[in-house]
Amino acid sequence: MVFNENFEIELNNIKNEALTKLTDINKIDLLEIWKQEYLGRKSKFNDLLKLLGKIDSIEQKKSIGELANTIKETLNQSYENYQQSLSELEITKQIETESIDITLPGLNRKSGHYHPLSLICQRIGNIFQGMGFNQVFGPEIETNYYNFDALNIDFDHPARDEQDTFYTNVAPHVLLRSQTSTVQIRAMEKTNPPLKIISIGRVYRNEEINARKYPIFHQVEGLYVNKNVNFGQLKWTLQKFINLFFERDLKTRFRPDFFPFTEPSAEVDCECPFCETQGCKTCGYKGWLEILGCGMVHPNVLKNIGPNYENYEGFAFGMGVERLAMIKFGINDIRYFYNNDIRFIEQF
Ligand SMILES: [Zn+2]
Repeated sequence: MVFNENFEIELNNIKNEALTKLTDINKIDLLEIWKQEYLGRKSKFNDLLKLLGKIDSIEQKKSIGELANTIKETLNQSYENYQQSLSELEITKQIETESIDITLPGLNRKSGHYHPLSLICQRIGNIFQGMGFNQVFGPEIETNYYNFDALNIDFDHPARDEQDTFYTNVAPHVLLRSQTSTVQIRAMEKTNPPLKIISIGRVYRNEEINARKYPIFHQVEGLYVNKNVNFGQLKWTLQKFINLFFERDLKTRFRPDFFPFTEPSAEVDCECPFCETQGCKTCGYKGWLEILGCGMVHPNVLKNIGPNYENYEGFAFGMGVERLAMIKFGINDIRYFYNNDIRFIEQF
């Protein structure tokens, strides 16, 4: 029957065409296209098989069916063989082109390090701990009581103004601490005297941003409470700290000042380490740098804590960490600490 002979010829033609094309394929993705063309659901081969039903004789139908199966198996087998050899070939090529040159130097990964402010905080902490001060910590979100009332700061003091302090919307008396003295009050409430502590931490003030001021900065506060504490001990402590911090002997001068929580109070200047009182740009040609405030703890502050602090005296001091860091490292703009410019930070 012509139809059947044609059928066999057609099937063999497809097989020959497929196998010939296969020899030209040199890439896996081309092989997949070939598979679709000759073995896929919409292939010529499948189209032809759909016509099998038109053959009348069952025997012929059977023999052509067998032939079709053999061809299909041959094509499948060829596909698998090619697939394997092409994958091996591609791996070999990849190894040749992407091989690792073990003689090249390794990648230099940068390791992290401390921020200059962290370094200064650690340095200050270590110096005071060496003098017997305990380092304590407290919350940055505070209440009016700890930030002002307990520190003898009057209700009409300008520091309480919203222009100077960040209040939260949690409650009218909840604020971001504007000084680390809050930690001193909390420490005294928990501990009976004698007490020798420092607290280093972040504080917040509603300041305009410029080269000298930033709304976030760090403070160090120190407090010593005991019997018979005097101003001479305070002077010795601060002089010692300044010498250790700047790693040289620098002259200091104490000028009378006013703070609500100390009486008497003083502002402390140290000899400018850059010009030794001759006057330079850093000290504004004054020869001295204002670095901290201090004084004897105001009796009202101790009275506010409770009866265990009766008959005790204390001294307290406070200083800005950024200011000390700027002098120590010779930095003229506080904003460098907060811009996170890697070119700046990497210098420390
Ligand atoms: Zn100077």
